[in-house]
Amino acid sequence: MKKIRLFLLIVVWSFLMAGCVDLTTSNQEKPFKLESMRVHFLNVGQGNAVFIEGGEGQTLLYDVGGDGDVGKQIVDYIQKCGYESLDVMVISHPHADHMNGAPYILEKIKVHAVYHPKVTHTTQLFEDFVQGVKKANLSLKPVKAGMEIPFGNMQVKVLGPCSDYYEGLNDYSVVLQVKDEHFSVLLTGDIEALAEEEVISSGKDLHADVLQVPHHGSSSSSTQDFLQKVNPKYSILSLAADNKYGHPHKEVMERLVKLDTEILRTDEQGTIVASYQGDALVIETEKGIQTPNMDKKYIDEKTGQGLIKGNKNSKVYHMPEGAHYDSVKEDNVIWFQTEREAVNAGYRRSKR
Ligand SMILES: [Zn+2]
Repeated sequence: MKKIRLFLLIVVWSFLMAGCVDLTTSNQEKPFKLESMRVHFLNVGQGNAVFIEGGEGQTLLYDVGGDGDVGKQIVDYIQKCGYESLDVMVISHPHADHMNGAPYILEKIKVHAVYHPKVTHTTQLFEDFVQGVKKANLSLKPVKAGMEIPFGNMQVKVLGPCSDYYEGLNDYSVVLQVKDEHFSVLLTGDIEALAEEEVISSGKDLHADVLQVPHHGSSSSSTQDFLQKVNPKYSILSLAADNKYGHPHKEVMERLVKLDTEILRTDEQGTIVASYQGDALVIETEKGIQTPNMDKKYIDEKTGQGLIKGNKNSKVYHMPEGAHYDSVKEDNVIWFQTEREAVNAGYRRSKR
């Protein structure tokens, strides 16, 4: 896989309402054969919900939490994609922002298997979830590193949790490596540095083409070592704009920028869909994109200095070809290598 050049192909996916847009197969009945798996990172506000369609029409939901009526939003989305049932639901860990849609989903559509780490939580929501599983005539399947979740022609490897006990719930998060013959995705819930270290120590190959960046981009997660081991072509952050946690944290964005990965965020791009089309990994987004250029490096090759010029006074930054590039007073200049660096430092782009 490493030698195959996955050229960047971003398709702006324009539609008026949030929903599944099936560009190639809209007239076919499901289940059908897709060219590859399709991985949908749903825009659920501050939370996480990833819907995966396999090549044979098998379906998996990883996390079902977020803002508002998220359970209904997810069911509507799945139905728009042409499915009336779900083969597998995996809840990474029992925090509301990863599972508050679960009771609704279990009530509304047939779910065939529900996986959860071996831990409980004291909330009413967790109780409702357990009841929902029972009412659906299912039992919660515990997940542990080393397992594989059966999923048709695809490989769904469980890389975490590695231990039986953690102090915080986040580190219990189920880590899944999902692969078909074309590309791979690593789903990480809210694992923090400790669980990341364990996954690395397990010696498994962590590489994935697409990474769900752990814990909404929190600085407690995404160690440089972990990110390097995964070495994703695309890094996807699931979060709400202006969330109260300050996600994504600046340190994580800086580490990602160093990694030479395309950063995509549900708060900026809306729902993000990864699939393989023709001979390329294609990323489709709901709102259009700014990011690929955001991470383009502007560097003076001799000195290594960034060429994007910020004005410390006005907090505006100017691109090298910008009309006011040369008019910033020297005392006020701060240099950035990428637009994302500038934006993360609180600067906005000059209009000209
Ligand atoms: Zn979370």
